[in-house]
Amino acid sequence: MGISIMKQDLERGLSMQALGIDVTSQQNDLIGPLPSSTDVCLVSMPFAPLPRPLPALGLLEAALKAAGIRVTGCYFNLWFARLYGSRYHDWPYKALKFYLADWLFGAAAFGPAPDKDETYLRALTRYLLGARAEEPAQAEAFHALCVQYRQRATDFTEQAARYLIASGARVIGCSSNFQQHGASLALLRAVKRLAPERITLLGGANCEGPMGAATHRCFPWVDYVVSGEGEEVIAPLVKVITVHGRDLPLTELPAGVWAPANRQAGKAGYERPHQERFASCTQLDKGPIADYQSYFDWLGHLGLRQHIRIGIPIEGSRGCWWGRCAFCGLNGERLRQRTKPLSRVLEEMDAFEQRHQCRDFELLDNVPPPRLLRELTQYLGEQVGEQATRRRLFCEVRAGMNREQIRALALAGIHYVQAGVEGLHSDLLALMNKGTQAWQNVQLLKWTREFGILCTYNLLWGMPGAQDRWYAETAAWLPAIEHLAPGVLLGLRFDRFSDYHRNPQAYGLRLQPHPSMPLVYPLADDDLAELSYFFEDAPVPISADGHFDLKGVGAEKIPPEVMTLLQATQHWVERFFRSRLQPILARSDSERGLELLDTRQCAVQRLHLLHDQEAQLYRLIDAAPPIERVQAKLAQKQGLILKDAEFDRMRAELIDARLAIELDGRLIGLAIRGEQPALPSHKDFPGGRVIRPWRGVTNPGVERLAGYNQPWC
Ligand code: SF4
Repeated sequence: MGISIMKQDLERGLSMQALGIDVTSQQNDLIGPLPSSTDVCLVSMPFAPLPRPLPALGLLEAALKAAGIRVTGCYFNLWFARLYGSRYHDWPYKALKFYLADWLFGAAAFGPAPDKDETYLRALTRYLLGARAEEPAQAEAFHALCVQYRQRATDFTEQAARYLIASGARVIGCSSNFQQHGASLALLRAVKRLAPERITLLGGANCEGPMGAATHRCFPWVDYVVSGEGEEVIAPLVKVITVHGRDLPLTELPAGVWAPANRQAGKAGYERPHQERFASCTQLDKGPIADYQSYFDWLGHLGLRQHIRIGIPIEGSRGCWWGRCAFCGLNGERLRQRTKPLSRVLEEMDAFEQRHQCRDFELLDNVPPPRLLRELTQYLGEQVGEQATRRRLFCEVRAGMNREQIRALALAGIHYVQAGVEGLHSDLLALMNKGTQAWQNVQLLKWTREFGILCTYNLLWGMPGAQDRWYAETAAWLPAIEHLAPGVLLGLRFDRFSDYHRNPQAYGLRLQPHPSMPLVYPLADDDLAELSYFFEDAPVPISADGHFDLKGVGAEKIPPEVMTLLQATQHWVERFFRSRLQPILARSDSERGLELLDTRQCAVQRLHLLHDQEAQLYRLIDAAPPIERVQAKLAQKQGLILKDAEFDRMRAELIDARLAIELDGRLIGLAIRGEQPALPSHKDFPGGRVIRPWRGVTNPGVERLAGYNQPWC
């Protein structure tokens, strides 16, 4: 591989060695496909997820190619992971709020800052090691590993920059989504230092709105920043850049783009009408289909194809039709939903399947619009007669779907969903303006379990105004749904663009960036406040010995009621995923009546037999009717007249037997119908997964870092 790269390079009259790349080293034997000649390189830096191409890169590559511009996607996140190991790659996500990924690339991006680094490491050690941080040997070993990892990131940045320069690309752009900001800034800085004439470009979710303006203002090695959706603006922008270079006049600046001319005017240079601060895609279904070939090329060149089950990202809509959850900052300033027609979604699926022989898809929509989801499931459900041609899909869903809609998901090959549950107490859900109630969430969990759909979701705590007793009240009845998929309890994050961030006074919040941020980014407080995506309520700065004091981060800060709920959910996860036999509460009709098998820990008996009226009542409450309407429905649908006393007795018996619960004024039958089907394995997740983890080729011992994990991140 290294030799073939050098041959291509020599043909173009460039010398990799002259550029400082040692083509004989083990690291460079792993370099991916060098573009023979290109105008633009678009880079995905660590720590973008490994098992799928980056949607933004695919869209931009397609848009540039359609405009006749030569472009190459560079999946440096794969290259980095190939060098240092796959487990190691995910480790920075364990300290997301501590800007760990940014710190790892921080020396390359901003230069060393020994005092701050020392404080940062002490705080990180406390966060990830907990009580073990007090043991000097443990803390020192952890520090040493972090420092080694950081050095690897610095070395990698240098190699990656030289690689890009060798490509001959005049414009070098990086994506910045989730954990990529520090790494992308580091890479662009190295490019600028080595080849000042190259034009640098940055875009992605981390550049949206004020974050993009602050990034551009504070980091002068980034020539252009795109805020918002880039696929319609990228080709015109690259064309004018090739004419004007860094000197693009403000009069020619497309909406959503910041240029060197803005920087020259200081902060005033960033004042622009609101609508000009974001690039928007006006026609979601008219642009070219995303081009993911670069991702597959890199996988192949790095020898990783057999290690990864790939999930192809596919997009049916942008924005959210609900758009009112108080904690949600997912859609930036643009919550309005835009939807592709079904025909376009299917055209994209066909194209990806043909190009890459891949039938696993991840629907990227925050929540698919109900109409599109209905049409898509209907279409796919009709197509799956032949098992061999079956497509598999992952998508997000909201509560409020009925049993038939959930059945349609399963028939369409959707066996994995992420549900926007967030809470199992309706007062909590109302407080976060979720637009759903706890009983609907239980129904969603019941029916997804019934149709063999693996449902993952979070439960949140820490909402301003929440009463601690709500968490304890939830914990009290959770054992009754032990046979349904458990959620993970997480502390609330205050994200930019959420209602908490827009109106902090209304919630009594004093939001500031996480106190680790000034230790990572060498910026003034007001710049940090513009750059930050996560916020904390009235945080105390991290002290020199690494002590921090945050609401909801350290276990000692968690109210006892939340601890009760945490323990209940952890027990639930144990029982559901790790016990030898998964808990069952299932019902089936027999000649003798309605038989129920109950293996939950809270079961009062293993087998129940319901006759006549009880059986009729139990079948009816599968739909969770309002309690006061149950008798009327029984009379109307089944001709069964139940007197109040009789109904009250039967209802109390079902609740005592824990076969039903009352929630939000509804009577909910908890048993699933028929045999409880096996759930699909996490290993087969259609959104992509590393199926054969690999060790790094360089200092694999550093992989021990992957074992450090703080459960509350
Ligand atoms: S959390 Fe989900 S449902 Fe709520 S506004 Fe955000 S995207 Fe929409």
